[in-house]
Amino acid sequence: MLPPDWLVESVQEIPDFPKPGILFRDLSPLWRSSASTSRCAIALAQGLGDIDVVVGMEARGFLAGLITAQRLGVGFVAARKPGKLPGETLSVAYDLEYGTDTLEIQRGALSKGERVLIVDDVIATGGTAAAAVKLVELAGAEVVGIRAIMELVGLGGRTMLEGHDVSVLWEVKG
Ligand code: AMP
Repeated sequence: MLPPDWLVESVQEIPDFPKPGILFRDLSPLWRSSASTSRCAIALAQGLGDIDVVVGMEARGFLAGLITAQRLGVGFVAARKPGKLPGETLSVAYDLEYGTDTLEIQRGALSKGERVLIVDDVIATGGTAAAAVKLVELAGAEVVGIRAIMELVGLGGRTMLEGHDVSVLWEVKG
C-alpha cells in the first residue's frame, strides 16, 4: 500500500532525535497545513462503523485522536502521563522505543461497554498502543480498533496488538 503524497510530503525524518540511533518522524509539517490535517482526519476515520469515543495518547496522539473524533462525531478521552489528570485515575505502565512510561485516564472517563477507537500518531514498538488497550479494558470498555498515521513496521509493534483491528495510513518499512 503506497502512502498518499500529501502524507509523504508532511513528514520530516530527523536522525538521532531524541537520542542517538533514533530516526524520529516529525509530523509538525502535517499539522501546520490545514489541508493536510483535514485529509488526515478523513483518512483516519475512513471505514469505521459504530464508535462511541476515541482515546488518544499523550502527546501527539491528542492531535491525531481529536481530529479523528471530530470527523466521527464522537467525544475524545486523553490518555495522559502520570500526575497530569485530576481525581482518581486508572493507570498502566509500558515500555517505549526510548525509555519507559505510564499512561492514565480518569476513572469514569469511559463507561462499561463503550466502543472505543484508539488513535496515535506513530506505532513504533507498539507499547504505547498496548498500554492504551489495557487502560480501555481496565475501564470495562471495548477496543474496536487502533489507528495511527504511521507504523514503523521493522519494530514489530503489531505483535503487541494481536487480535485487534489495526490500520495505519503509512507502513514505513525498515
Ligand atoms: P511505541 O510505544 O514504541 O509504539 O511508541 C509510540 C509513541 O512514541 C508514539 O506516541 C510516537 O509519538 C512516539 N515515537 C516512537 N518512536 C518514534 C519515532 N521514531 N518517530 C516519531 N515518534 C515516535
